[in-house]
Amino acid sequence: TSFHIAFIGLGNMGGPMALNLLKAGHTLSVFDLSAAALKTLGDAGARVAASAQAAVADADVVVSMLPASRHVEGLYLGAEGIIKRLRPGALIIECSTIAAQSAIAVARAATEAGLAMLDAPVSGGTGGAIAGTLTFMVGGPAEVLERARPVLLGMGKNIFHAGAHGAGQTAKICNNMLLGILMAGTAEALALGMANGLDPRVLSDIMGKSSGRNWALEVYNPVPGVMDNVPSSRGYSGGFGVDLMLKDLGLAAEAAMGAKAPIPLGELARNLYALHSGAGAGALDFSSIFELLSHRPGA
Ligand code: NAD
Repeated sequence: TSFHIAFIGLGNMGGPMALNLLKAGHTLSVFDLSAAALKTLGDAGARVAASAQAAVADADVVVSMLPASRHVEGLYLGAEGIIKRLRPGALIIECSTIAAQSAIAVARAATEAGLAMLDAPVSGGTGGAIAGTLTFMVGGPAEVLERARPVLLGMGKNIFHAGAHGAGQTAKICNNMLLGILMAGTAEALALGMANGLDPRVLSDIMGKSSGRNWALEVYNPVPGVMDNVPSSRGYSGGFGVDLMLKDLGLAAEAAMGAKAPIPLGELARNLYALHSGAGAGALDFSSIFELLSHRPGA
């Protein structure tokens, strides 16, 4: 089955996800604030819309991939929100990483308007987005997930039903808190080895076959030159921004406060990325936390 899909937000993740939906045989109307992002999709055969409101006219399905809660609420809610423009029965698949409460607010407004909505944040990085192998963590009714499954399979491989509206976001926040901690810890360990004379490639090989192995080390190594095709080997460009990781660790902190849950390592990681962002690294890939931890003035 092919659908007419409106895709909003064509950044590092949304761009390749939209390209894969085209390849899967769907027709697309797309919108982003960036003209360059629109051109890439237009060249690949998508219809380029002048606004989000225009993009969703006639859409069976909306997929959105925006930075944060406020962008998502701005897109869907309020007088200009696209919930007012969608035809009854349309399906919303919201893939950004946002607060569970924001996902629930959009779901409530959508349901009132006769629309179906899922929160479906993703994991797998830009590599997974390009390869179409993303993991989806879905919140919302099981029967809506079944309707969305053919669309999700055009962009990803592993689809998990986390629970009710918002549960996909809660799962994603737990995962990304762990990722933030693992990246900082991996960078710290590699910097320690290098400060004591080890070659980071040799140390990465050793730890990759030892008990310290993890995704940040093996798939997304933070030390320039250890791996090809990762942000650390292209000046920490592309990938997953420090400010997006900082946002996710802030969402984890909010979730922790609401539930009186202790997250000592998550809070420490949040402070490290905040220091790094404050020093001017906000737009770099989050693996650049290695630079903060390996900087040794006068060494
Ligand atoms: P990005 O900054 O590369 O892309 C965001 C895009 O949204 C940009 O192209 C921007 O122009 C566009 N945009 C912003 N406001 C808009 C609006 N009002 N209307 C239309 N377009 C608008 O971000 P990204 O890395 O693609 O991440 C998107 C989301 O996915 C974030 O919530 C992020 O946390 C999450 N995520 C990212 C990764 C990753 O590895 N990059 C992995 C998993 C999840």
